[in-house]
Amino acid sequence: MRLRALGRATLATLILTLGLLGLGAQQPAPQQAPNPPLPVLHADNGQNTAAAQSAHYVVLVSLDGFRWNYAKREGATHLLALGKHGVWAPEGMIPSYPSLTFPNHFSIVTGLYPEHHGLVANSFYDETKQARYAINDSQAVSDGSWYSGTPLWSLAESQGMRTACFFWPGSEAQIAGYRPTYYLKFDDKIDEVARIDQIVAWLSLPAADRPHFITLYYSEPDHEGHEFGPEAPETKAAIHKVDGLIGKLKESLDATGLPIDLVVVSDHGMVKTQGPWITLDQLADLTGFESAGYLLYGKTEEDRARVYEKLKHASSQFVVYRRKDVPGELNYSQNPREGDPVVIAAGPYAIRAHGPPEGKPDRPPTAGMHGFDPRRIPEMKASFFAAGPDIVVGKTVQPFENVNLYPWLAHLLGLTPPKSDGSLNVLAGTLRDGGVEPEKEAADAKH
Ligand code: AMP
Ligand code: ZN
Ligand code: ZN
Repeated sequence: MRLRALGRATLATLILTLGLLGLGAQQPAPQQAPNPPLPVLHADNGQNTAAAQSAHYVVLVSLDGFRWNYAKREGATHLLALGKHGVWAPEGMIPSYPSLTFPNHFSIVTGLYPEHHGLVANSFYDETKQARYAINDSQAVSDGSWYSGTPLWSLAESQGMRTACFFWPGSEAQIAGYRPTYYLKFDDKIDEVARIDQIVAWLSLPAADRPHFITLYYSEPDHEGHEFGPEAPETKAAIHKVDGLIGKLKESLDATGLPIDLVVVSDHGMVKTQGPWITLDQLADLTGFESAGYLLYGKTEEDRARVYEKLKHASSQFVVYRRKDVPGELNYSQNPREGDPVVIAAGPYAIRAHGPPEGKPDRPPTAGMHGFDPRRIPEMKASFFAAGPDIVVGKTVQPFENVNLYPWLAHLLGLTPPKSDGSLNVLAGTLRDGGVEPEKEAADAKH
């Protein structure tokens, strides 16, 4: 009786096997096919320590591409209610550059800028490894050697607390010595409500096995934002759909009676794309360069300097820097995976190194895009809502960088985080205990 979720899966497999063998043939057919069991994976990290068992719970939800102003614009009642009963960022949360899915999800759970945790884009090239990382390469995403930092689940596991990820970039790899105790391989076809049911199942486990830090991911409204644009009726419908899922999740979490802080964020926003593709190899000779999307990897100093000079005055739609000169606020100058020279879009323009190979059809850019510098293009800002027993009621926060979530989430869980690019001071005012460590509070009281 180790795991209820796995127990159910095993039972279902047995029933299925008996069925296939024809052993259940004389039984009446069930009225309705049961949902197939979810393929939950299990890392044997042991059980919660006594201290972990007495800690509170955090459910961290990501709504991909949920732009900072979507909730208010569309009257997303459940998200706005969450903010009203807790805290939210009405002017948005600032994503790390580039405002892409993997870099930002991993910044949220490590407190590190992309160049420090290593996922500098969704796809990139590593000169030392002479290999590529890409989000649709299941071998790469589950290989811990691509990632740096200590994701929250690894931090918790290392401090005796069990965790579970219903998807999160990085959650399929062993990083900083651990995997989440419970996790799944990414499969966006898994039903949205079944994801909530699984979270409730995890929270119904015996206290020794019950995860205290849980992630949940939905890829909407990002898909609709790309295909139809941020203002489209399809995107509006997706906003209401995920808002409804948050309402259902909140209701389910309340019903457990457990002390749960519910935190809903997004990774980035979305902007209407302007104009056709800008193809860099039409502006400079990229012979001898590796590339990934708009990232350029010059092999020799001569090549890097040549292409930099060529692109410098080639277009008003982007700015180009030698990597060491990228402005400090972007935190995008220290990791060779960023390439050199570095091209930064000056507006919502679709940039790529090369067009499709000969004979392959070219498609225009999608209607909506992201990835841009949030300081130049405020539509990139993300969302932040949170409520629960450790969070003050009815407070708003000014835009803050998403790396600051890491020490804050660690504090909610009673974990001691390593040094990161984030600071607890930024969100301390949203905490009922003001962000003071319990031991420090006790020591201060003595004086
Ligand atoms: P983008 O909008 O280009 O930054 O990428 C978003 C894509 O990432 C979506 O199509 C998601 O389906 C996909 N995605 C999100 N989480 C994961 C994951 N854990 N593993 C693989 N792909 C993911
Ligand atoms: Zn995304
Ligand atoms: Zn996207």
